[in-house]
Amino acid sequence: MEDLRRTCFFCSEIIEGKKTLEHIIPNSLLGKLGIKEETVTGQKETQYSRVKVPAHSTCNSGFGSEYENRVLMHLEDLDSLYEDLKSEELGLPIIYGPDESVTAIITTWLSKIYYGLFYYDLITTQDEEWRSICSSIISSQNFKYVCSSYKYGHGFQLPSSLYVFKTNGSKTDLTTIVDPSSFLLKIGSLTFILCICDGYLTKNYLNGEELTRLRECVRAEDERNIDFPSHKLALGEIIALRRCIPKTPKFISGDNQIINMSLSTMVANPDEYYSINNDMLKRTRIEVLRDFNIELG
Ligand SMILES: [Zn+2]
Repeated sequence: MEDLRRTCFFCSEIIEGKKTLEHIIPNSLLGKLGIKEETVTGQKETQYSRVKVPAHSTCNSGFGSEYENRVLMHLEDLDSLYEDLKSEELGLPIIYGPDESVTAIITTWLSKIYYGLFYYDLITTQDEEWRSICSSIISSQNFKYVCSSYKYGHGFQLPSSLYVFKTNGSKTDLTTIVDPSSFLLKIGSLTFILCICDGYLTKNYLNGEELTRLRECVRAEDERNIDFPSHKLALGEIIALRRCIPKTPKFISGDNQIINMSLSTMVANPDEYYSINNDMLKRTRIEVLRDFNIELG
């Protein structure tokens, strides 16, 4: 654990000399969101203002100017952000590299919060069981690739499907899920759901008309009852789908870049071979929504 305290969260290298502490959620945003004291992981109460991880000052300030400041600017106008993200969602980047899209900036930011929360918990938790879960995430190959990706200038992320939903409720929410690794952040009327390191597999199934239908379903539940956690319904649907995708994400490390192999295949009939079993999806959906305590009207 001592080593981790001297290891940079962003680039995973040892910090010689002076270290800085990176706020996982910037204070300026915390005030605005009013989420200083809430449950992060379902395990314990966390004061977000205290959630900080060790970093090189260059990595720390680089992240601030390259990503965080731009995210905070986008969050000033949620309606435009929603439209921008929607307009980008048709494309599925085959080549993955430095990317100036709003999707890439938001993805990097959400990915940083997700991993940052587990990194912080790994350093600070007293709970053995929880520590081993956090450790499995922070010592995973995916997290190593995420750090490499940041060093290569490709953002603190691996290819991850990002979804955005709009609801009427203005309550803030933040949910981390270990398996399948997912992150939900609801800021005002916008809900972001990131399928962490899924290699765009989810986006490959849930897009276009299917996604429009899911948005309509979320909106209908939202209008039926403003207290209904419709953003959790969206998360439940996405998690159920991911559990039923008969393919696993795959990445390899190449020349100063991480290559996404998740969408490539050797089979002759991929559409059939990788099709979703609808009965399984129905059953999984019921299980997931039950876990979330969601009952549909
Ligand atoms: Zn660093």
